[in-house]
Amino acid sequence: EAKADRRGVLVYERSLDGHSPSRLALLGELRQALQDDQLVLYYQPKVDVTLGRVTGAEALVRWQHPERGLVPPGDFIPVAEGSGLILPLTMYTLEAAVAQAKAWLDAGQAIQVAVNLSPRCLVEPTIPDQVRQLLHRHGLPARLLRLELTESTVMADPERALGALMELRNLGVAISIDDFGTGYSSMSYLKRLPVDELKIDRSFVMDMLAEGHDAVLVRSSIDLGHNLGLAVVAEGVEDEETLTALRALGCDVVQGYHLARPMPASAFTDWVVSRVP
Ligand code: C2E
Ligand code: CA
Ligand code: CA
Ligand code: CA
Repeated sequence: EAKADRRGVLVYERSLDGHSPSRLALLGELRQALQDDQLVLYYQPKVDVTLGRVTGAEALVRWQHPERGLVPPGDFIPVAEGSGLILPLTMYTLEAAVAQAKAWLDAGQAIQVAVNLSPRCLVEPTIPDQVRQLLHRHGLPARLLRLELTESTVMADPERALGALMELRNLGVAISIDDFGTGYSSMSYLKRLPVDELKIDRSFVMDMLAEGHDAVLVRSSIDLGHNLGLAVVAEGVEDEETLTALRALGCDVVQGYHLARPMPASAFTDWVVSRVP
């Protein structure tokens, strides 16, 4: 439901269901934001647990809103996902991320960028071909692009997802299962999916030292991933103790505020350079 604040600016509430005026207003504004280049990508490093090397960067979208400042993705991605707008929005983020990876490559840094893919995109038949054209247009090797999909994205329509993932995988694009542990993917599907990385959801990682069952879930996810031949990433690593515990469990890659927060591309470049001994 839309409310007007003191300046008369529309304030959007979290429950943006159905065709409420606020949802439609937000969609209209978001459509305009795409045209006006108001969406920016922040990059968060993924770091090798044992070597400390940067293995890649996750691209996380923010809306640089003229009045409301930097709007987090949780405030507009779900609304875009409920409409067709998620497709142009995803193409926008893919385009920006691929262009950035190419710029880094040209500057001598081969940094793999990871882009989050919404459920709607995976069942969009043209996506694999659009990704192929995008890589070709920018001259970026496919292995420097990674797509992150949640378990529920895949499980919504497993057969169709499998087909699209095979096509993307055949291009040479890397694929991750995101937010692992929050969905219900069966072992048999996981085995069939052409993925090479599993990301343990941050809710489990953040509580693993305090909550026994979260530690068990993290440990068994690492073992499961490794048994399937996948690299395992822990996201939401906020302190040194968690990092040490993950290292002891054989986790491969870490991501989280303890390493670095998501940051604009230029800051990411500086961060990478400053880490070289
Ligand atoms: P995600 O894919 O699970 O992304 C990780 C989220 O965890 C990011 O939130 C990141 O800023 C946050 N994070 C990273 N390290 C830590 C940590 O140590 N502690 C805590 N508490 N949080 C941490 P963000 O940027 O707000 O993104 C939220 C979600 O929005 C993402 O979750 C993803 O599902 C979605 N999203 C972001 N960008 C895009 C996009 O371009 N396209 C689509 N479809 N979804 C996106
Ligand atoms: Ca992600
Ligand atoms: Ca995640
Ligand atoms: Ca998440």
